[in-house]
Amino acid sequence: MSAQPHVHDHDAPEGLLSVEEARERVLSRVQPLSPLQLPLTDAFGCVAAEDVLATHDLPEFASSAMDGFAVRASDVAGATPAHPRELKIVGRALIGHEPEGTVGAGETMHIATGAPVPAGADVVVPIENADVDGDELVRLLDGPAPGTHVRPRGEDVHEGDVLIPSGKRLGAPELGLLANAGHPTPLVHPRPRVVVLSTGDELVPPTETPAFGQVRDANSFTIFGALREMGAMPVMAGIVRDDVESLRDTIFNFEIQADAFISSGGVSVGERDVVKAAFFRRGDVDFYKVAMQPGMPQGFGHVENKPYFGLPGNPVSVFVSLEVFVRPAILKMMGRRHLFRPEVTARLTEEVRGPRGKLQFARVEVRHEKDRWSATPTGARGSNLISTVARANGLAMIPAGTESAPAGSSVQVMLFRSSED
Ligand code: AMP
Ligand code: MG
Repeated sequence: MSAQPHVHDHDAPEGLLSVEEARERVLSRVQPLSPLQLPLTDAFGCVAAEDVLATHDLPEFASSAMDGFAVRASDVAGATPAHPRELKIVGRALIGHEPEGTVGAGETMHIATGAPVPAGADVVVPIENADVDGDELVRLLDGPAPGTHVRPRGEDVHEGDVLIPSGKRLGAPELGLLANAGHPTPLVHPRPRVVVLSTGDELVPPTETPAFGQVRDANSFTIFGALREMGAMPVMAGIVRDDVESLRDTIFNFEIQADAFISSGGVSVGERDVVKAAFFRRGDVDFYKVAMQPGMPQGFGHVENKPYFGLPGNPVSVFVSLEVFVRPAILKMMGRRHLFRPEVTARLTEEVRGPRGKLQFARVEVRHEKDRWSATPTGARGSNLISTVARANGLAMIPAGTESAPAGSSVQVMLFRSSED
């Protein structure tokens, strides 16, 4: 909030960075966090920082795929219900145990699904094809080829194989594979802990009833949700008054817990704009204007060597800034390779008017209709109109210089969630 009224020429391109330049400025100044060995449950969603190699074969032992009898294939070759082979039962191969004894010629062992196949046996005859006669004898009615119903050692993975390549994100199947292969603490890029704070004398928490003129803090929660969606760990530092000392105190109190900071508000031109007043003179954070609407004023730099994102205050500007600048940067810190949202080309169902000289991010609802995408604006352009974001699933990019994108024209749309959600 600025005390002095000031005039913005919202259409002036001079002195503005392009969105690409501003994004490059941010991305070139953030690096992946140093890798850590994390337990699997913490490593979920993180990116592997090295190739993970198999230290042994998987499965580690040959096991039975059926309940039945482990035998030598040569002993049952040609067996049929009319011409069964009678074998002597010499034991039981139990799941979870090394078999006691071996299977010799004319012998067999009971075997359970998943139990190690005893030495000597090379095939399992399922229980359905067995006619058990007391404790010691069985007649087998089928003579499968060697290897039938046996899961061989190393069938899945060989020792030395790459289980997980460096750069791969650990999802559900990767966690299972690493656990199974005996890698309980993979080396990954950790999730950044990001301190989130809102600046503004007018703000109250959403749990309070605002006095006239006060505003419930929206931005901390938008930022929280965006960070969670990225896989980062928000640390909520709350509301900070428009007071340089309070802001600095909060930042330095939380610094120990942080890999990055995001504040909203207080980055415009006024001397009273608190983020600017706190960090501009120190030279840690640059404040600049980007040729975009919403989201023109931006601050970015480093405080205590940690990235600091000074976002504008208006709630829609916050959302767009998160999508355009913060998300790619946080993903880069997490070692992710694909930093940008998917885009589709869609047909506008209504005219969108744009500011001259700025790239407009228009909130739209994108739908897939027959074999093409349509985009319908969810409301007016004002950067305070937060419900227009909640109704949208995409940001249509109306290029600088386009004052009117008429109904029926094609636009590029960044999809920030699937249309079903
Ligand atoms: P500022 O950039 O601090 O001047 O804020 C611009 C506008 O955004 C003002 O109308 C603020 O009241 C509003 N605003 C700033 N921060 C928040 C917030 N956390 N939640 C909702 N509105 C905010
Ligand atoms: Mg403010």
